[in-house]
Amino acid sequence: MSTPAVSFEVFPPRSIDASFRLWETAQALAPLAPRFFSVTYGAGGTTRDLTHDAAYTLRKSSGLPVAAHLTCVGATRDETMATARRFAKAGVTDLVALRGDPPEGSDGFTAHPDGFANSVDLIEALAATNLFTLRVGAYPEKHPEAASQAASIDWLKAKIDAGADEAITQFFFEAETFLRFRDDCAKAGINAPVTPGILPVTNWVSARKFAARCGTSVPLWLDQAFETAIRDDRHDLLARAVCTEMCSTLVDEGVENLHFYTLNRPELTREVCHALGVTQAETGVRDVA
Ligand code: FAD
Repeated sequence: MSTPAVSFEVFPPRSIDASFRLWETAQALAPLAPRFFSVTYGAGGTTRDLTHDAAYTLRKSSGLPVAAHLTCVGATRDETMATARRFAKAGVTDLVALRGDPPEGSDGFTAHPDGFANSVDLIEALAATNLFTLRVGAYPEKHPEAASQAASIDWLKAKIDAGADEAITQFFFEAETFLRFRDDCAKAGINAPVTPGILPVTNWVSARKFAARCGTSVPLWLDQAFETAIRDDRHDLLARAVCTEMCSTLVDEGVENLHFYTLNRPELTREVCHALGVTQAETGVRDVA
């Protein structure tokens, strides 16, 4: 089996305790020499400054590329572009450009009257700056709002054609789901890399709820396996095994890059990476900014 290249998603901390957790995550995962860390942007654009500060600090302390997520929600075009330029000034060379979700409790996405209408609109404007490597979201089981999987893939093609360099998928629980999607993207003429988003399950009950919200299907066998594992106090053992097996199948099928949703809990991600042959490099986190 060849060794995949990896990248890691983290979220910006909202408390001292969470700041320490992010720091521990960076310390644990930076030595695996990821392609980049990515830092999420709270639903409704609620973490703009925190995302900036976390991305800046991670970039400075790890010396690794950092991708800041950026959404169109709740901001004018000028404000969104000003945020992007602030990221660039902080040394952030990569963005994950998204339409975004509204804050919890709102009904679906409504564009700001002076804002970007959708993700394609945002990507076009960001690509025109020539400042960033641009990544976008992709949905192997179709986005919940998409009319069909074909429409979802056509929309992904529009995002790539607008200037995106790579797509990162929503998480899924079976390798076949991604492999089918990869084939469908290739048939639709999408030539940019499509990187699978991997969720190592640190808590099955939460992962299940999260899956229901995102439209990720949960295979019956996996649900039953976790039920038994939780009963017998072997949740983490199962989580490690299923995630490693799925990643290993992807790599055997020619997948070169894996993007891990770490939820700022690095242990399981690190164990899976080690099992896949991704081991310690010289790089490490230097200091806190
Ligand atoms: P899009 O791909 O633009 O749209 C989603 C779907 O809606 C498309 O598949 C398409 O079928 C349909 N659609 C939308 N507009 C049109 C149109 N005009 N015409 C036709 N079809 C259309 N959310 C956050 O708030 N913060 C984050 O940091 C964040 N990070 C993410 C990272 C990744 C890798 C992924 C996959 C998702 C992330 N999300 C994040 C969630 C994301 O914001 C939601 O899934 C959101 O609902 C869609 O954003 P998008 O840019 O992927 O949307």
